[in-house]
Order: sequence, then structure tokens, then C-alpha cells
Amino acid sequence: MTYAIPLWDTPSLPIAGTDDLFPVNRIFCVGRNYAAHAREMGHDPDREPPFFFTKFGDGAFTGSEYPYPSATEDMHPECEMIVALSKGGADIPESDAEDCVFGYGVGFDMTRRDMQQIAKDMGRPWALSKGPDFAAPCSILHRVSEVGHINEAGLLFTVNGEIRQEGNVNQMIWSTAEMIVYLSTLITLKAGDIIMTGTPAGVSAVVKGDKLIGHVDGLTDLELTIV
Ligand code: MN
Repeated sequence: MTYAIPLWDTPSLPIAGTDDLFPVNRIFCVGRNYAAHAREMGHDPDREPPFFFTKFGDGAFTGSEYPYPSATEDMHPECEMIVALSKGGADIPESDAEDCVFGYGVGFDMTRRDMQQIAKDMGRPWALSKGPDFAAPCSILHRVSEVGHINEAGLLFTVNGEIRQEGNVNQMIWSTAEMIVYLSTLITLKAGDIIMTGTPAGVSAVVKGDKLIGHVDGLTDLELTIV
């Protein structure tokens, strides 16, 4: 069998300690998973069911120079720990959730905040405000066998050396395992899926020339320059 048009490349992420690549399937993002960030966006952070939005899998970006996207003048990177799944399923029990995790990394949930605000005001979808080209810059991944399961780790996001976001993944309202369980009640999770686990307070705009460093303790920094 052949395809009628040329097959595209599989989006993929490097893996620490190997030349193998992690193939990226879908990208799921959780909203308002840190109380202080929920407050800064004008919401009550009382624990309510998590909500998710998605990015295209080909938004996974591994370059060091990030092209400032079209159609925004208020681009916000949200620094987040990312979780890569080696297997999925539907209605995954909590006891099996961590077994689905291949590894962890650092990602930026790139957000056209001006477009997102219009979408919120008008009840429109977030897909394109959260989904420019290269919507999800990601660091290299570290396998669970190397770093264990990360439920406590400092998170730091700097722009040009100045701290913008500081937190700890132990502040997540919904843990990685809880998110896997909940997502698997909504959709059958698959190998290659990525979960972006939410961002602490301090989101703000970046401009061309800015140098971004996202850090989660125990993982490789994600470094980008906006061009
Ligand atoms: Mn986010």
C-alpha cells in the first residue's frame, strides 16, 4: 500500500542517555492546576474536577530558536512539567496510573493570551490560542527508570535571568496519577501521549530576543531564544 500524498515526519522528542526518540501522539494540557495561577487568572482555586484542552502533536518543538507566532501581541509561555506516556487505556485505575508513565520533561505551554481572552469572552474554543505552530516546546525526556516518579520538584522559569515563575510540582492540585485516571475516563489514552501538568503563578509576555529557561529539579532545562 502507498499513501496518496507523502507521509509526514512523526513528531518526536529526544530521550536522555539514548539515541532513541519518543514519538509524540496527542498533547493534553490541564488548566488551572496550581492555586496561585488560578487566582491570577481570576478564578477560585477550590478543588474542582480538572479540565483539559489539547494541542496538536506536531506542536512538540525541540529547537533552540523559537519563532514568535503570528496573530498575537501577547505571547505567554507557561512553564510546566510534562509527562510522556508509554501506554494508555480507558478507565485506568489509580493503582495502574504511574505504570503508564514513560518519563518526564520540561515544557512551555505557549499561549496567545490576547486571542485566548477573546475566546473566553465570546465562549469560543481555545484551540488556536493554545495552538500556534510549535505550541509545545519540550526538553529532552528522562525515563522513569532514570529519575523515578516526580511528585516533588522545584520549578523555576526565568526570562533573561529574571525569575518569572517559581513553584514546586507538589503544589499541583491534581497529581500526575490523578490526571491520568481522570483523562482516561474522557478518552482512551495512548502510547505517545503527552500531558502538560499546569503552571504556577507568574505568567507574562515574552518578546523577540528574550532568553527563556524552564527548570524542574532533576530534569534537563528547556532553553529557548525567541526570534
Ligand atoms: Mn498551561
